[in-house]
Amino acid sequence: MNFDFTEEQLMIRDMVREFTENEVTPIDEELDKHGFSRELHKKMVQAGLMGIHFPEKYGGAEGDAIISAITVHELAKGSASIALFLDAHWLAADTILYHGSEEQKEKYLHKAAADSIFSFALTEPCAGSDAAGIKTTAKLEGDEWVLNGSKAWITNSGVADVCVVLAKTDPDAGAKGISAFIIEKGTPGFSVGKEENKMGMRGSNTCELILDNVRLPKSQLLGEVGSGFKIAMIALDGARISIGAIAAGLAEHAMKIARDYANQRVAFGKPIAKLYAIQEKFANMAVGIEATQLMTYSTAKLKAQGKRHTKEAAMTKIFGSEMCVKTCDEAIQTLGGYGYSKEYHVERFLRDAKLLQIGEGTSEILKILVGSTVLAEK
Ligand SMILES: Cc1cc2nc3c(=O)[nH]c(=O)nc-3n(C[C@H](O)[C@H](O)[C@H](O)COP(=O)(O)OP(=O)(O)OC[C@H]3O[C@@H](n4cnc5c(N)ncnc54)[C@H](O)[C@@H]3O)c2cc1C
Repeated sequence: MNFDFTEEQLMIRDMVREFTENEVTPIDEELDKHGFSRELHKKMVQAGLMGIHFPEKYGGAEGDAIISAITVHELAKGSASIALFLDAHWLAADTILYHGSEEQKEKYLHKAAADSIFSFALTEPCAGSDAAGIKTTAKLEGDEWVLNGSKAWITNSGVADVCVVLAKTDPDAGAKGISAFIIEKGTPGFSVGKEENKMGMRGSNTCELILDNVRLPKSQLLGEVGSGFKIAMIALDGARISIGAIAAGLAEHAMKIARDYANQRVAFGKPIAKLYAIQEKFANMAVGIEATQLMTYSTAKLKAQGKRHTKEAAMTKIFGSEMCVKTCDEAIQTLGGYGYSKEYHVERFLRDAKLLQIGEGTSEILKILVGSTVLAEK
């Protein structure tokens, strides 16, 4: 891919690539078996990855959306789960970066760039795609907000120190009645429910959250009352770029394993790589990966330039996630029976890839967004 990365971007790409090769790829299978690794998180903190795009004054490395995409892209070449972990951490932390008061930025972004893990809680057992239909409430009682409800499918929630939670402050006002709150681990009434036994992305932690009369001082409100839905949608625009980056990285990993196999596996007296049916699969895989990378970085560039990127981020996620599922499936097919074995890893990649079509807006919902936007354009 020729994206004209700057010297600094290339330096970070090489650093994260080396980190992935040394620290992430070797334990991807273990993460799938045993779940999230605090030890790996510590190494990511030491490598300066957790707040790589935050301003220096908040403990970051002064990167931008292109640097974030590079980081997640390279990590996903070793483990999609770990890339998703970082994506979810940023999904939460970025709401504070973009909408927090100076006190909140000072207090929380240093933590997010260091060893505190963040999570973002919008989805509920009764409301995922229909995010404006959440039922968790936040009522002002004197000087405190009191939150009640539950959240489902929250990435990082079982290991997080800080959670950005969306709740209804005006249940009759639809999306305009939602506000965002910052809740710290250990706040009375705020607890972690059951951990999800997931199909894939098993190296990331996903749990339910319970809010039972959680009392928060007014200082924990993020942004204005009623601005929570907008805050969440802006955060998701950014996170969908990360999903494109994960899709490109994971698909490349699958294609490389399939390529090595196709070059050495002999059938009917020659390597299967010489068969047109196999070559066609690689043509499709390579085209899809290249296109996803270009969409990911061109959308990241829009974000880095402060330009609107809602439609582009949704298109990147739709295309990238569907390409990734198809590529991982074709990688399994290329390996035949061995593809179906855990020994060659590609079965895990397909399990991981499937999440990309669901989390942070399903393909169906994003097609409504893109289709209606395009139809309204002049
Ligand atoms: C591993 C994992 C991690 C996650 N992490 C987080 C997280 O960190 N934070 C968070 O808040 N959430 C998280 N989620 C939740 C995720 O964002 C939701 O699962 C997703 O938005 C879909 O919501 P749902 O599961 O309630 O499905 P539903 O909304 O019930 O949808 C079910 C099906 O109906 C379709 N559908 C729904 N409405 C329409 C419509 N109007 N038109 C066409 N089709 C429609 C959907 O596309 C889907 O196919 C995570 C989910 C998973 C699986």
